[in-house]
Amino acid sequence: MRYVSTRGAWAANPQPFRAILLEGLALDGGLAVPESYPRFSAAELDAMRGLDYRGLALAVLSRFFDDIPAVDLKRLIDATYTKAAFGSDEIVPLSTLAPGLHLLHASNGPTLAFKDIALQLLGRLFEHVLGQTQSTLNILGATSGDTGSSAEHALLGRRGVRVFMLSPHGRMSPFQQAQMYSLLDPAIHNLAIEGSFDDCQDIVKAVSGDAEFKRRYRIGAVNSINWARVAAQVVYYFKGCFAATSHAGEAVQFAVPSGNFGNILAAHVARAMGLPIARLVLATNENDVLDEFFRTGRYRPRSTAETRATSSPSMDISKASNFERFVFDVVGRDARAFRSLWDSLARDGEIDFAATPWWPKVQQAGIVSGRSTHAERVATIRELHERYGVVIDPHTADGVKVGREQALPGVPLVCVETALPAKFAATIREAIGRDPERPAAFVGLEERPQRCEVLPPDVERVKAYVAAHAAA
Ligand SMILES: *Cc1c(COP(=O)(O)O)cnc(C)c1O
Repeated sequence: MRYVSTRGAWAANPQPFRAILLEGLALDGGLAVPESYPRFSAAELDAMRGLDYRGLALAVLSRFFDDIPAVDLKRLIDATYTKAAFGSDEIVPLSTLAPGLHLLHASNGPTLAFKDIALQLLGRLFEHVLGQTQSTLNILGATSGDTGSSAEHALLGRRGVRVFMLSPHGRMSPFQQAQMYSLLDPAIHNLAIEGSFDDCQDIVKAVSGDAEFKRRYRIGAVNSINWARVAAQVVYYFKGCFAATSHAGEAVQFAVPSGNFGNILAAHVARAMGLPIARLVLATNENDVLDEFFRTGRYRPRSTAETRATSSPSMDISKASNFERFVFDVVGRDARAFRSLWDSLARDGEIDFAATPWWPKVQQAGIVSGRSTHAERVATIRELHERYGVVIDPHTADGVKVGREQALPGVPLVCVETALPAKFAATIREAIGRDPERPAAFVGLEERPQRCEVLPPDVERVKAYVAAHAAA
């Protein structure tokens, strides 16, 4: 498996996985994507139904990470996906609320969000590769709330790794903030940026776009633009499909609460690999750029000023970086066509896909969408609590709300649970009148001492900070 950039770099010399593992962006500003998606035959898919999570992970990921010897990859996967880290040997269990309506519990990892599934593996992959080359790495990332703590917990104590994590100052839930800022390890640097998540992400992109700085300080990325994260997330779509169906080839549909388009991109990739997914339902909150796109074809990223702080904060994103990988597929994986679209986006601030030859391709991708508001997510949390006795988090509630509206009748609907309710107590209290359950390890979290560095949304200030604190 070799990798190319969505914007054309490496077309003449596609890169091996190890060359793109540590990177966020290609040097042309594009994202690394596989030259083509591997495909499982019907017989292979049938055989995979019987595998446990670790076996599934090896079957899927060995197709993408094929320059890591299979014995090493198996060892890393087996060490990552354990009952100790994820609460059960199922790792991502499926539960059934009603016939044909399921929750896929992807948020049982160490920081209670689905991001742990990929980042726990990434931490071990980084350590493995750095150990072989005897080098160090400075991870630069941006978080809307959950990536940061998930990455920091995955990288904490990994040899040779320092973390610089940008978060939107004052925009995360108190629990999310405490999960990050209470890590006082000297290898972890929390930079609270006076701006939105999109500002944080723009700074990371600007720093990563400075090739000289990036090389000098060995900057790596853990954001959802990191391909290994997308690949690791592909695995639970296989698991969810097999768990929700009873016979080979039976189709499912997934509802996915979306922000940066990383989670649903993994589902799109799983489908390209042959998994029978009848429909993908993308849910946004009030920040509905992606919903507008899938309904109308109009892609209109918003500014920070137009990005609202909502009660599903991990989806408060108006420039979904992984969307670029989807568009690359839509334009037939033609980097030239992609660049011409993105040039028009830079020029006009929006693209009307409905006026391009690509709109039928978007519609054929089998993704439908909807949005959910604060009142709707609260009502959904309340209803599921009353009707089924479960408590779901606000992001998952957005997915359930839109999933039930947009699902095809007669096909099992699997709603991906992206975080546990403990992270968002205020919204849960509003919905059901009491605090969510809190796992024992998190009792008193917000009272622990916290440390962060508040900075303006200024690329040079962030660079100066990284330069002063980078690993030697
Ligand atoms: C990150 C996150 C999302 C959005 O996922 P994307 O991959 O960015 O689309 C949704 N819900 C929760 C709880 C998250 O942490």
